[in-house]
Amino acid sequence: MLKVKGLQAGYGAVNILWDISFEVGDGEIVAILGSNGAGKTTMVRTITGILKAAQGSVEFNGEELARKNARFVLDHGIVQVPEGRQLFTEMTVLENLEMGAFNKETKAHFKENLEKAYGWFPRLKERAKQAAGTLSGGEQQMVAVARALIGMPKLLILDEPSLGLAPNIVDDILDVAKTMAKQDGLSVLLVEQDITKALACADRGYVIENGRIALEGTSAELQANEHVKKAYLGI
Ligand code: ATP
Repeated sequence: MLKVKGLQAGYGAVNILWDISFEVGDGEIVAILGSNGAGKTTMVRTITGILKAAQGSVEFNGEELARKNARFVLDHGIVQVPEGRQLFTEMTVLENLEMGAFNKETKAHFKENLEKAYGWFPRLKERAKQAAGTLSGGEQQMVAVARALIGMPKLLILDEPSLGLAPNIVDDILDVAKTMAKQDGLSVLLVEQDITKALACADRGYVIENGRIALEGTSAELQANEHVKKAYLGI
């Protein structure tokens, strides 16, 4: 479903991504792994149309999305939970969730998807009228994930969901993504620095180093890889 080929992108004259190629199938959870500054967020921004690719293609369900704008990409079902969540902190939880319904179709299904979201994250129902900025970090991440799911994604991109959160909250969030992948065929691109958590959840993964894909494999293969063990897992 998502086929990224030879993607090259950067900021002005500075190139950050070099020849990035990977795929995500229907209902598959694929991890993009790498340390600080490896280029993960730049890759997410390029796929979602925030940043224009200098070269390469981003094919999604047969449609070319590279160099299209962010709204076009969103309308085709690629929805991201951005790094740092980016909630409207002065607005209530419910108002933030309403922002997830961005077009006719998602607005028409808002009520049922809101109930689903409250089912995954019951705490959000209790806090519906509270300003999002007053929630804990974990609760804010739940709002960001619920908002994205209300956008009825075909591909959900989670950019560093573990950042600054307690491990059990990260597990809860990844469990929701996993359930949706297995039950509803949602595809998930999980961009993470926490390689242990990401590989425990993902089916396959790619390791980015200095803007290039350095390694790829199933989660089991990457967990057993000597370079991954040494450089990322400290074992
Ligand atoms: P992190 O986990 O720290 O977010 P990352 O793998 O997501 O890391 P990126 O944010 O994609 O990495 O950054 C990759 C490189 O691009 C870094 O060297 C960074 O300094 C540079 N970079 C990021 N944003 C910009 C920008 N707006 N202008 C210029 N350079 C940038």
